[in-house]
Amino acid sequence: MTKSFGLYFHIPFCRSKCPYCDFYSIPYTEEQANRYTEAVLRALSKAPERDLPVDTIYFGGGTPVLFGAQRLLTMIDAVRKRYVVSDDCEITLEANPAAMTLEDLRTLRKGGFNRISIGVQSAVEEQLKTLGRLHSVQQARESVELCRIAGFENVSVDLMLGTPGQTEEAILRFCDTFCPVVEHISAYLLKVEENTPFGRQQMERFCPDEEQSADLYLFAVKELESRGFHQYEISNFAKDGLHSRHNSRYWDCSEYLGIGPAAHSFWKGQRKYFERDLESFSTAEDPWQLWQLDEEGGDFFEYAMLRLRLNEGLRFADCRERYPEINLAPLKQQAQQLIQHGLAVMDEEHIALTVQGFLLSNAAIWRLLEVYD
Ligand code: SF4
Repeated sequence: MTKSFGLYFHIPFCRSKCPYCDFYSIPYTEEQANRYTEAVLRALSKAPERDLPVDTIYFGGGTPVLFGAQRLLTMIDAVRKRYVVSDDCEITLEANPAAMTLEDLRTLRKGGFNRISIGVQSAVEEQLKTLGRLHSVQQARESVELCRIAGFENVSVDLMLGTPGQTEEAILRFCDTFCPVVEHISAYLLKVEENTPFGRQQMERFCPDEEQSADLYLFAVKELESRGFHQYEISNFAKDGLHSRHNSRYWDCSEYLGIGPAAHSFWKGQRKYFERDLESFSTAEDPWQLWQLDEEGGDFFEYAMLRLRLNEGLRFADCRERYPEINLAPLKQQAQQLIQHGLAVMDEEHIALTVQGFLLSNAAIWRLLEVYD
């Protein structure tokens, strides 16, 4: 049976730029949006292979909901012409509470979208202002309600951790406001990137320090777990069976095609990407001519590194099946030290990091895998 793959569309437009954000996006205009839609359709008509099964599609950005239902559904139609979209395909749209209408949501739901991921970030007005968000807490709460009315049964919200002035109380308020009404929560620690306004203002001076951020993360994990949101990845929590199937591809080294400037792909054993350049992508007759090779991918080191981000960790039987030549003994030996420090657990079948291990994931994963580098 042919293996299914995932499709990612990068929609690089936002109303305005949040001062912490390093994602590739530019201000939205109708004209650019039309031109970009044409470019995406051109890319789809020339995309690698055809008739392959697709079982996850993800529209990220940027703020793809700004594109409106019609443009997004035109893209989905084009996907259906090129590939075989499975009946249970997970189709996710990233959305912003300041840019959602009930009419669009209803049309998208009817057109096959079945998952919405909303960039909420905080349930404290002051923090939303600091983060440069264009919405209020109430708007964020109402946007979840709109998704429900439109028929979405799988709604995710983002929570940002380690933001300036954040306290446990703020996390509690977020959980009280959103846990009862959503199925999935992504909780990311803010990283102040140099090339952003936050970076230039050296906002890290006002953020909780490393130890305080670690405490906030552990507090959030405990709160979310106690409310039925099971941690399945370092930053992701879901009610039973409602993990993001698309994002899970990334952590399982499964194939996906990314379309649009700044979009990455893992395809036929290679990591590829498009440059952060909307103009070239929009004007190319064949955007795939711009597809760059990053590196060969999918070796044991990379697979193990990604799997160790997951709660279920690295299953030895999967390793033996995918990489029969790999000797797992050195990894199991390296694991002893982490286990002694409470950073990992291991049994006959698998090894996984603990929540404490997630906090030190880069160092812990390197310690486990350095012998395979
Ligand atoms: S809305 Fe999202 S993608 Fe756009 S600038 Fe803000 S954080 Fe970045």
